[in-house]
Amino acid sequence: MVRKLIAGNWKMNGLKGTGGELARDLAARARAAAPDCDLLVCPPAQLLFPVGEALAGGPVRLGAQDCHAEPSGAHTGDIAAPMLADAGCSHVIVGHSERRSNHGETDGLVRAKAEAATAAGLTPIVCVGETEEERTAGRALAVIESQIRGSVPEAGGAEVPVVAYEPVWAIGTGRTATSGDIAQAHGHIRALLKSIYGEEAGGTVRILYGGSVKPDNAAEILAVAEVDGALVGGASLKAEDFWAIAASCP
Ligand code: PEP
Repeated sequence: MVRKLIAGNWKMNGLKGTGGELARDLAARARAAAPDCDLLVCPPAQLLFPVGEALAGGPVRLGAQDCHAEPSGAHTGDIAAPMLADAGCSHVIVGHSERRSNHGETDGLVRAKAEAATAAGLTPIVCVGETEEERTAGRALAVIESQIRGSVPEAGGAEVPVVAYEPVWAIGTGRTATSGDIAQAHGHIRALLKSIYGEEAGGTVRILYGGSVKPDNAAEILAVAEVDGALVGGASLKAEDFWAIAASCP
C-alpha cells in the first residue's frame, strides 16, 4: 500500500499574520505527534518563505499552487519551478480546475508545467476532474482519461507525479462524490497510469481525492480503494480540521 499524502491547498488566502500562525500551529501539532501519513501545505507564493521557516525541521512539507512552464524569462507575474525549489518546495500543484477555468489552462500547458516541475526536482500534483455537466452526460471517465493522457508528464523520466482526482462540482461546494464513484474514478486512473508508466511505476503514483474533504467524511473517503490521500482546500485553512483529516488516515 502507498503511504498516504494529505495536502492542503490554501488557495488565495492568508497574510503574513494568519498564514504564519496557521503554519506554526501545524508545526506544533507535528512536534507533539505526527500522524501516520505524509503532510504537505501549499500556501500562496508570498507566504512560501515564512511558512517554510515555520515548518523547517518538521514533517510537514512545503508546496506551491502553480508554476510556469519555462525555467526563467520575461513572464511578468509568473513564478518558475526552480524558484519554488529554491524556496524549499517539494511539490507543486498544476492544472487545478480553478486554473483550468479561470486562466484557460489546457492539458498541453498543464503537462508542460508538470514537466518543468519535474526538471526542477519538484513533484507535480496534476489535477483532473469532470464538471457536473460532464458527469450527468455520462462522460466523467472519458473526460478524466483525456485529461490524464494529456496532462501528466511523458513516461521516461525518473520520477512519477502525484495525481489529484477532483470532481469540479465537489470543489468548495460541500458536496462529495460517493465512495462508489470515487472508487470507479480512481480505479480507472490507476489502470491508465499503469498503461502510461508501466505496471510497477504506475502502481506507485499517489492518487489523491479532492473536493470538500472535511473531518467528518475523511475516514470514509480515505478508506476507498486506490485513494492514496487527499487534496484539501477549505478545511486546510483550520489547523484543527487539517489535522483531524490527517489523523483519519487508516
Ligand atoms: C481544492 O481546491 O483543491 C479543494 C479540494 O477544495 P475544497 O476542499 O475546499 O473543496
